[in-house]
Amino acid sequence: MEQQENKYVTIGVTEIYEYTKLADKIAGSFDNCGGIKFKSGIGGGRFLRECTNCDMRKNNLLRNFS
Ligand SMILES: [Zn+2]
Repeated sequence: MEQQENKYVTIGVTEIYEYTKLADKIAGSFDNCGGIKFKSGIGGGRFLRECTNCDMRKNNLLRNFS
């Protein structure tokens, strides 16, 4: 899917990505750098991951991890 490819190409660190719109290209790793280490925060039924390597942020629904 070309449109899906484009979403990964334009990843930046100023935006918080939604897992529902941008699923992990490789499960559990960040699409930007492929790193797996992250800081996290939980609130409002969401689980935010922030990459310790490139600062990319992604919001996940908790049910994606249950
Ligand atoms: Zn990263």
